[in-house]
Amino acid sequence: MLASLTDILATARVVSIPLRQRFRGIETREVMLFEGPEGWTEFSPFVEYDDEEAAAWLAAALDFGWVPTPPLLRDSVAVNATLPAVEAARVADVLDRFSGCRTVKVKVAETGQTLADDVARVAAARAYLGAEGRIRIDANGGWNVDEAEHAIHSLAEYDLEYVEQPCASVDELWQIRQRVKYMGLPIAADESVRKAADPLLVARQEAADLLVIKAQPLGGIHAALDIADQAGLPLVVSSALETSVGISMGLHLAAALPELPYDCGLATVSLLSLDVAVDPLIPVEGSIAVRRVVPNGRVFDDYAAPAERDAWWRERLTRCYALLDV
Ligand SMILES: [Mg+2]
Repeated sequence: MLASLTDILATARVVSIPLRQRFRGIETREVMLFEGPEGWTEFSPFVEYDDEEAAAWLAAALDFGWVPTPPLLRDSVAVNATLPAVEAARVADVLDRFSGCRTVKVKVAETGQTLADDVARVAAARAYLGAEGRIRIDANGGWNVDEAEHAIHSLAEYDLEYVEQPCASVDELWQIRQRVKYMGLPIAADESVRKAADPLLVARQEAADLLVIKAQPLGGIHAALDIADQAGLPLVVSSALETSVGISMGLHLAAALPELPYDCGLATVSLLSLDVAVDPLIPVEGSIAVRRVVPNGRVFDDYAAPAERDAWWRERLTRCYALLDV
């Protein structure tokens, strides 16, 4: 075993950080951080995930904290802005927080909203960027094939870079990919990679043109690099609403990939109302430097999770640890 449970729990802290804007159904992000010989690392599976799914995130945290990172091929990573499903009038305010980013990922297909809301938001993002910037959309599997086709036709005039997870299943992704192939619009798979029992199925089925990979859900930097190598498709490294500690893990993964043709989704620290790091990993002129971070002890104290949540995370860590056979 890389690390004993006692060692992990000795430095573990659980923080509860308010989000600036409701995102993927939550308003507060709970995160556990601990320190290994390689530095600080993050264990932050979303609270609704079961232990089996969360154990992959623990494997990732141990990999980053206890195993040296692979050789880095770049020292900074170009990143995209992330636009939650806000109303069009708020788009400029949100995008102002992403310094110099030439690419915007727009969340669409939000429950309770309509295609007209998506069109208005994408139009506002295009107006903000001007003609030069890139816009990709992410439906988080929220459309069926017909809805996806209709939405893509409605949004095409805003010049889309790619469409991320328009539908939920691999079979649906394959169908929509066939239907819009004539438009030259790539389809990206995200949930079909990180939440699938077999993350490579979507590549083997030729149901996507590119894959979104995330270090924590895929079991860490080394495991993600293996998957990337086998997939044989272009890759985008993305994050999971992490603090700068988790973002640092994603940056090291992105920096180790042989090819990095797209801007990465690692500029998400600004979705949090504050960060744990003394020196947060936020974009400067559209890129983030690849480095590790050290948490600010004051944030640990001021944003410590309530005692019962802290205990819940320690119990979760203990159960997930028992599931690992490293
Ligand atoms: Mg996504």
